[in-house]
Amino acid sequence: MISNTSISFNKFLQMGAINGDAELDEEEIAALKWDIPFYRQLGLLAPASPPGEIFCETCDEMASIYYSNGVAKAACPNCGIYTPPSYQISFWRVCYDPVVQALYTGLGCTEPTDLIIPKTLWKLGRCGIAGQSRLVYVARGINIPQVNDSILRLLPNNRTFLLLVFGDLPQKNVCPDFEADRVFSINSLMTLGEDGLHTDTAPIRDTLELLLKTAPPKVRGPGKNSKIGDIQIKIRDHLEAHIVGEYDRMETCERLDMPYEFKTVLQKDFTKMFNVNKVMVSRAIREDPYVRDLFKASRNFDLMCATARHLIKEENKALGRRPRAS
Ligand SMILES: [Zn+2]
Repeated sequence: MISNTSISFNKFLQMGAINGDAELDEEEIAALKWDIPFYRQLGLLAPASPPGEIFCETCDEMASIYYSNGVAKAACPNCGIYTPPSYQISFWRVCYDPVVQALYTGLGCTEPTDLIIPKTLWKLGRCGIAGQSRLVYVARGINIPQVNDSILRLLPNNRTFLLLVFGDLPQKNVCPDFEADRVFSINSLMTLGEDGLHTDTAPIRDTLELLLKTAPPKVRGPGKNSKIGDIQIKIRDHLEAHIVGEYDRMETCERLDMPYEFKTVLQKDFTKMFNVNKVMVSRAIREDPYVRDLFKASRNFDLMCATARHLIKEENKALGRRPRAS
């Protein structure tokens, strides 16, 4: 049976499909059947700043709001000073960070979460699922054309990542080249119980396992080089995604006037990520000139920028997109 809690929590997740901060008053929250103290405790709701002035309930004149000993008071030029009704001054902001955090923990992601577009796009790093290592992204507003454009631009160019979206799955008209087995609605992955948020990874695992069973067998590379070839591909994909992601993060920081710190990749990160030894990793990088260049670029700021610009241009060309405005 679907409880009222899960229906109302589904509405909470669904609201995440709109990007930006939704601010609701007490009546709106009551209509949604959200338990304010419980949602507050979980960090899903936070008090929003009260309005500086309200319409006086008695005479419709603007009454300014001020605080006396922590209690809100309204000062109306006609009616004088009075205590305003709480629905006029209590607003709540809907917060999705705890949902992102619960997905991160529930999926067992290991790298630190990277906020790529504030309140819109998160990179959760890699998770191990169905015997595979997948990069995971979380997005809000995927079905809003302008937002969708910036999200797609920041996702890596390989198609092996998982994208978890708030609200409905991407519509074909906004994401024409999106494969359905890589994108999941958070509504299908998360529930709210008495003890908090729960992530259920089964829908992802089942889909990936089914895909593995039905996929044609992989064409292996020649003889003993096949394994190193596999690792080279994985390192290449990771480095390309990292470089583009890093460049975009730098641009985002610059645009938002936030401090930016250049993050580099270490060879030992790959040993953990792909479960191979150090010798194998250094061989894989050394023996493929392109991977070697990518690795060098991931460790040098100027090279990183140049490489990222090149990768973005190539990707846009491949997808027939117009170049981004710089
Ligand atoms: Zn008044």
